[in-house]
Amino acid sequence: MFKALVIDKSDDKSVSASIKELDDKDLPEGNVTIDVAYSTLNYKDGLVLGGLGGLVRNYPHVPGIDFSGTVANSDHAEYKTGDKVILTGWRVGEVHWGGYSQRARVNGDWLVPLPSPLTEYQAMAVGTAGLTAMLGIMALEDHGLTPSSGPILVTGASGGVGSVACSILSKLGFEVHASTGRVDDQYLTSIGVSEIIPREELAESNGKPLNKERWAGAIDSVGGSSLANLLTQTKYGGSVAAIGLAGGNKLETTVIPFLLRGVNLLGIDSVMCPKHKRLQAWQRLTTDLPLELLETMTETTPLTGIASKGTDIIKGKVRGRMVVDVNG
Ligand code: NDP
Repeated sequence: MFKALVIDKSDDKSVSASIKELDDKDLPEGNVTIDVAYSTLNYKDGLVLGGLGGLVRNYPHVPGIDFSGTVANSDHAEYKTGDKVILTGWRVGEVHWGGYSQRARVNGDWLVPLPSPLTEYQAMAVGTAGLTAMLGIMALEDHGLTPSSGPILVTGASGGVGSVACSILSKLGFEVHASTGRVDDQYLTSIGVSEIIPREELAESNGKPLNKERWAGAIDSVGGSSLANLLTQTKYGGSVAAIGLAGGNKLETTVIPFLLRGVNLLGIDSVMCPKHKRLQAWQRLTTDLPLELLETMTETTPLTGIASKGTDIIKGKVRGRMVVDVNG
């Protein structure tokens, strides 16, 4: 028997969560069973916990889009009992049962080995948010961005994706600017940000297709008018990694920044991202993410505490990263 957080939908469509005792026979199909050590809270987990976005097809459901842990048994050629593994994405925690559980079963093709020297805890402090930030930075680099190209803007900077992006970019030597709703918070300067841009400054458009060139690139977890505005202020040949929609999923822009400034808008997806790219990103995280900053940006909650945090992350009230100790 093991404990899991199970959400269910009632006749009035409201979603409620409770801790349940489950058995291995309750687990979904898969060829690797894992004793989960940690999971995390991402924006998408907040949507799932709140029954938002139509992400969950079947109830009862175990949320948690990430987990780290130890292989309990395996019929997969690449994994054996005792191996330390990480799972992010592949619609685990949405379509498939997820990591808010002391035990999980998945398709072994979705796993990656825990990269040395990261611990299971640190891997979840990174989680989907951190992995996606790394994928975004790799995409900017693939498009020629270097610290000498000019300042990089990170939007939604105090969130999970934003915090990890700021820390990595500053370690890599970039000048990091941060767009945030939490302008008075010293947190962002403590993770390497040199200039704070109030969220409202990007939210309002002056209607012009091009504005003064400010940033050589951007990691954008906000979308909406913020993304539209930063495209008009991206330097010639610069690139913007579109990661999230915390501020909205509509993009009203013109093609002028692409045509006259050669600006690149790069879509980043971590969920179905091919395995070779994930392995590369995890490897980069072991060298380019300052672990001492990761520690300062991470809070831990036990499985019993996670349900109430879902609303907080959707409201933009969670700072940095949150690890779920499923055995705590
Ligand atoms: P967080 O909630 O941790 O961070 C989002 C941040 O955005 C907040 O902390 C806040 O930062 C800012 N924000 C919140 N609400 C608004 C608003 N209404 N307008 C403008 N800014 C706002 O979420 P994550 O970092 O986990 O995820 C960020 C986004 O990236 C989400 O939309 C998520 O779905 C997406 N995502 C996409 C992935 C992919 O594969 N493409 C993978 C992971 C995440 P501040 O207070 O500093 O302003």
